[in-house]
Amino acid sequence: MSDITTVGEIDNWTCWLCDQVVDADASVNSDLGPSVDGYAATRVKKGKPAVERLAHRTCNTMKGKIAPVVRWSPELFVVDPSPIFETVERLRTKGGREIVARCPDENDARQASEWLLDRVSRLAPDLGLSTQISPGGGQFVLYLAR
Ligand SMILES: [Zn+2]
Repeated sequence: MSDITTVGEIDNWTCWLCDQVVDADASVNSDLGPSVDGYAATRVKKGKPAVERLAHRTCNTMKGKIAPVVRWSPELFVVDPSPIFETVERLRTKGGREIVARCPDENDARQASEWLLDRVSRLAPDLGLSTQISPGGGQFVLYLAR
């Protein structure tokens, strides 16, 4: 495993899961302290170099005491957003599609969709996940599908 400074510099001290700044000087034992996430490494095929990414300790998919959380961006207008990490893991096992959020209008749904696709393309690049938007009940429902 590489040291935090090396991985931090490669990732520009930005958490690969939540896109927020990671304080290089924070204690590695604090919740928002820097840590090296080997999650990507577990998805890499044999013979390829492991991919290690910078994550907050609480965002780290391997080390956190609690289940990892991929936060929805506060910039988005989403109602009833689902936990992203759990949804991706369920789709990994079962496939199909799940409602991940409802949006007040189609434009909000498109923005949420683009943001989510960008996020899951990093979280689970091997799954080829896609999104679907469909109107329903005066809102726009956003699905994540495998
Ligand atoms: Zn984070």
